[in-house]
Amino acid sequence: MRIDLHAHSNVSDGTETPADVLASAARAGLDVVALTDHDSTDGWAEASLAALENGVALVPGMEVSCRTAQGISVHLLSYLHDPAHPGLLEEITKAKDARLTRAERMVTLLAEDYPLTWDDVIHHVAPGATLGRPHIADALVAAGVVADRSEAFASILTSHSRYFVQHYAPDPATAVELVRAAGGVPVFAHPVASGRGRIVGERTYRDMIDAGLAGLEIDHRDNPEEGREFLRGLAAKHGLLITGSSDYHGAGKPNLLGENLTTADVLARIEELGTGTAVVRP
Ligand code: AMP
Ligand code: FE
Ligand code: FE
Ligand code: ZN
Repeated sequence: MRIDLHAHSNVSDGTETPADVLASAARAGLDVVALTDHDSTDGWAEASLAALENGVALVPGMEVSCRTAQGISVHLLSYLHDPAHPGLLEEITKAKDARLTRAERMVTLLAEDYPLTWDDVIHHVAPGATLGRPHIADALVAAGVVADRSEAFASILTSHSRYFVQHYAPDPATAVELVRAAGGVPVFAHPVASGRGRIVGERTYRDMIDAGLAGLEIDHRDNPEEGREFLRGLAAKHGLLITGSSDYHGAGKPNLLGENLTTADVLARIEELGTGTAVVRP
C-alpha cells in the first residue's frame, strides 16, 4: 500500500486543482492520498469525485496554521474531522481572513522596492483560495524578480525578511483540542523543519500531547535527521502515530507525491480515531 497523507491543491497554495491532485496521485502509483489544504476544506467535494474516477482513496484533511505564544509557526494536520464543526471552522475562517489582510500588507511593503501590485498577486490565486506567501512568490516570478518560489522563500519572503508580516493563527494546543472536538485526528506537520523558521521546544509538545495530539509527521523532507531521532523517541514515549508524507504542492515545490509514505497500520488507526467524516474509497 502506497499512502501519502499530505498534499495541497489550488484551494490553498498548490498549483493543481483538487481533481488534478487525485489524477497525479494515480500517476504516482498511490493507493491513498490525503488532501490537506491550508485552513480550508473547500477541495473535499471535487477531490472525492476525482478519487472515484482515478481509483485512489481520499483521506479528507486540512493543515491548520497555528502560532505559539512565543511567535513560532506550527502546522497541524487534521484528518477526517467534521468540516462544519463551528469551533474549528471559526478559527480557520479567522486565520484565512487574516491571511488576506496580511498579504495586502506584505504587497504594500514589497511594492516600495519591486514592480508588484495586488492585482499581480490575485492573478495567481484561485477564487476563494487560502492566500499565502507562495502566491506572492508567483507574482514575483512573473515580474522576473526571482526564478521560482524556492528562490523567493530563500530571500525576499523568509520570515526574517523586512517584508514579512504575521497573520492571526490559533495556539497549537487549542487547535489540537478543536480538531479532536470536530472528530478529527491531529498530527503535528514537519515538527522539526528548522529551515522554515524557529521550531518549538518541549513545552509546546507537552501542551499539544495533553490536548490530544495523535501523531507526528516524522518522514518529511524538511525534518533533519537529528530531529527525526528526537521525534521517534517522543512518539515511543507517548504512543503517538508516525506518518510520512510528501507535502506535494504541484509545480510549486520540488516535493513529489509518494516520496515519503505512511504505513497501512497507521492509516487504520487514523480511521478508527477519525469520526467527523470518512475515507472516500473507489
Ligand atoms: P504562509 O502560509 O503564507 O506563511 O507561507 C508558507 C507556505 O509557503 C508553506 O505552506 C509552504 O508550502 C510554502 N513554502 C515554504 N517554503 C517554501 C519554499 N522554499 N518553496 C516553495 N514554497 C515554500
Ligand atoms: Fe503550503
Ligand atoms: Fe506545512
Ligand atoms: Zn503542507
